[in-house]
Amino acid sequence: MTDQTTRSFQMTGFDKPLVENVNPVPKATGTQVLVRVKGAGICHSDLHIQDGYYDLGSGEKMSFEGRIQFPFTPGHETTGDVAALGPEAEGIEVGINVVICSWVGCGECAHCKQGDEHLCSAPQFIGVNKPGGYSDYVVVPHPRYLIDLGNLDPIKAAPMSCSGLTTYSAIRKFGKILNNVPLVIFGAGGLGLMATGLMAKLDLAPPVVVEIDAAKREAALKAGAAVAIDPNAGDAMQKIRDAVGQPVLAILDLVGSSDTAKLGLALIEKGGRMVIVGLLGGDIRISVPSLPLKSITLQGSYIGSPAELRELVGLLREKGLPDTPLDRRPLDQADAALSDLRAGKVVGRVVLIP
Ligand SMILES: [Zn+2]
Ligand SMILES: [Zn+2]
Repeated sequence: MTDQTTRSFQMTGFDKPLVENVNPVPKATGTQVLVRVKGAGICHSDLHIQDGYYDLGSGEKMSFEGRIQFPFTPGHETTGDVAALGPEAEGIEVGINVVICSWVGCGECAHCKQGDEHLCSAPQFIGVNKPGGYSDYVVVPHPRYLIDLGNLDPIKAAPMSCSGLTTYSAIRKFGKILNNVPLVIFGAGGLGLMATGLMAKLDLAPPVVVEIDAAKREAALKAGAAVAIDPNAGDAMQKIRDAVGQPVLAILDLVGSSDTAKLGLALIEKGGRMVIVGLLGGDIRISVPSLPLKSITLQGSYIGSPAELRELVGLLREKGLPDTPLDRRPLDQADAALSDLRAGKVVGRVVLIP
């Protein structure tokens, strides 16, 4: 790479490895901002994009066909410093460290108008619909998608725009109930460890974590979980109830499989809420009368809003980043890192460093 070129690690089609392409550094035009990448987190969604679909259960798939333009540069968890401003970009300075809010909407629909750009049905998400952070540089359409990191370490902060925001938004959906009962978290992958770390930053009780993998249970305890339980152990249900110590009213499912959703429905008690975030895939059967009789809420949660990301960064600038495990790798190992994540060999979050 020279000063005038940028390396990008790109998918050339579904189900294909990443390849390195070198191109001229893009110019920021209009309101655009050019960001020099310092950290690019690898998210499970990047694997779904590589696969080309989400598994909806019962053999059904939701395809990405037609939604991804190849060659495609993934990476929606990006931090960096502002390298250049387009002539109409205002309110941001060259050189400051920023996290990129990748959740760019159409700006026109009802969701976008009320600030929920992450729910836009014509999204222009960076690293999904537009070139992302597996690169030396990223173009951001407007300064409003950049949040000043202050003194936060941009490498450690990279996961905030997806993993951090997704878990923060999901935790907030439980409201005040978490002041009175501990949260049960399914899954201690990147999201589970992030959620566990954020609970302390939000002054909430240490969560009860449920995870099949022994190394990840260990990591959850280190990240601040009260207890980490193996759901395949015979007495798992009772262990979870004992650990909660009162009715199970708050479950955060970060796995999102048939097994975890079934387990959650079996555990949740009257007036409880289960928020499902994980996208592993599958389906469940729900007894309809159990919803009114138990007065339970099943809720999906997808990423979070740009305003929530600002709130989160504000909180962390005050309280520091959660101490979740990071696996730092050079950008040119992007493909190997993606394969390791697929093979379940990653504890915590991989951050690629150009
Ligand atoms: Zn993500
Ligand atoms: Zn929109």
